[in-house]
Amino acid sequence: MDNCIFCKIVRGEIPARQVYEDELVLAFHDIQPQRPTHILVIPKRHIASLAEVTSADEPVLGRMLAIAQQLARAHGSADGFRAIINTGRVGGQEVPHLHMHIVGGPDPVGPMLKKI
Ligand code: 5GP
Ligand code: ZN
Repeated sequence: MDNCIFCKIVRGEIPARQVYEDELVLAFHDIQPQRPTHILVIPKRHIASLAEVTSADEPVLGRMLAIAQQLARAHGSADGFRAIINTGRVGGQEVPHLHMHIVGGPDPVGPMLKKI
């Protein structure tokens, strides 16, 4: 995906404060952190959203979840964290490359959703 901002980060074409990499996933600090801990975990291969995954993506999806706790602990959120995957228009997804937010810090992140 030539113009995908997260694919560009995977290819090293734009900088990111990377915190983790393996053969399937990459993790880096969000450019506009919403909490003291705010890390994004992405598949290296372009997947547009959680609405586009297939059973072939199970290994990378599992890896994203399985590394969350070690990233949270290593980056200031040792007593729990929240993992968020915004998906599509209704989910408020802004970057069309699947990503999981890991948010946290010393204090509780607050209610799951703003009440409407
Ligand atoms: P979404 O709303 O799609 O779930 O979240 C997209 C996230 O990507 C936002 O929190 C935004 O701050 C982050 N983001 C957008 N562009 C960049 C970038 O170029 N670098 C980094 N590190 N984060 C980005
Ligand atoms: Zn992409």
